[in-house]
Amino acid sequence: MSKATPMTMLVRFAPSPTGLIHAGNARTAVANYLFAHANDAEFLLRIDDTDAERSKPEFEAAILEDLAWLGLRHDRFERQSERGDVHRAAVERLKASGRLYPCFETAEELDRKRKRQQARHLPPVYDRAALSLTDDERAKFEAEGRKPHWRFLLSQKKVVWDDLIRGPVEIDTGTVSDPVVVREDGTFLYTLPSVVDDADLGVTHIIRGEDHVTNSAAQIEIFEALGVTPPRMAHHPLLVGASGEALSKRLGSLSLRTMRENGIEPMALSAYLAKIGTSDPIEPRASLNDLAGEFDFSKIGRAPARFDEAELAALNAKHLHAVPYEEVRDRLAVLGCDLGPAFWLAVRPNLGRLSDAASFRVLVEGPVVPTREDPEMLEKAADLLPDTLDGESWGIWTKAITAATGRKGKALFHPLRLALTGREHGPELAKLLPLIGPARARARLMGETA
Ligand code: GLU
Repeated sequence: MSKATPMTMLVRFAPSPTGLIHAGNARTAVANYLFAHANDAEFLLRIDDTDAERSKPEFEAAILEDLAWLGLRHDRFERQSERGDVHRAAVERLKASGRLYPCFETAEELDRKRKRQQARHLPPVYDRAALSLTDDERAKFEAEGRKPHWRFLLSQKKVVWDDLIRGPVEIDTGTVSDPVVVREDGTFLYTLPSVVDDADLGVTHIIRGEDHVTNSAAQIEIFEALGVTPPRMAHHPLLVGASGEALSKRLGSLSLRTMRENGIEPMALSAYLAKIGTSDPIEPRASLNDLAGEFDFSKIGRAPARFDEAELAALNAKHLHAVPYEEVRDRLAVLGCDLGPAFWLAVRPNLGRLSDAASFRVLVEGPVVPTREDPEMLEKAADLLPDTLDGESWGIWTKAITAATGRKGKALFHPLRLALTGREHGPELAKLLPLIGPARARARLMGETA
């Protein structure tokens, strides 16, 4: 294990490939990425795939695709399943120094112990019975065919760290069980490979959800037992739903996949995940760099952050309303509605999602079946329509119609909209009119499908 002080700061996002990335772990990924970019640090993507049974290559592929969609490029990549030698070497060192000890209790025996503790109103902390096994007793268990699992011997002292989000944290490791780190079959539980890799790869900052706070105390002790200075820790509050409910049951619908399919823009989602639960306003941002420039742990509150899908949808719309044409041109082409920058500027204020733009193509190119609400006025309007139309035309033309017919306000605009677009609502007519063009506009005003 290298103990060298790393030259660069290093953070990691460490998903297990046992499912899709959802709002909760995406928020952790965003925080790590933004911290890295705000501090010239490196961003490591570490696939925590030591659970061979539950880890699936298709989930790893999905994680990579989803992070790429969000734009969270990693500087380094590691897969824990390929680092078994490093993990095993660390286990041997911890065994040699007496910090790992073998236990032979079966799951049922442990369960019985917990029930007895419960009945006596004692905390369900492992009683360390295995520490007092004699060599004979151990040999007897092994002769019975029992294989040991291994626990890390906690110091039962106060572990203290200055959390970058929570401030000073103090956890008495006498109040928690010695964690099992190696199973009977020799496979590792999450904690051990995580600490060994953080130490070996030179992770300097661990940024993750506060569900890991208690783990951190044991992990800090393992870092120290390995002779490595623990990384700085930052535990952010977890996400809850709009009315404060736990999100866990709805995580399927909050997967990045589903959000993407529902038309959420990656930058809108990044901005939302970066800002909820902070003192900053929730506003669209043009780039991850902008978000990185504003990233600061001190802005993250201690209360759970509310993930409100309606608020995200509103932010998504607001984001789209400001997106420049060049940024969406290719996607508009795929949607079959790249009609140029003027079309984009005309329709973007009406979008909730990008794909809505496709529904406006017909307004420009036809065929539109006009609804005629005041034919007399519409005929006059057709007469007054100039032969060339630009951005100024609408104002001049409608003034002329008012002068000629006395129609104004709703009595003017509603029939014009119905005739020109066949719809009650839609993009601003001043911007649409030059795109529709004089010939089509005149035909529609006269009641022709065009
Ligand atoms: N694989 C762990 C998880 O997904 C990583 C936790 C950590 O950041 O240490 O919960």
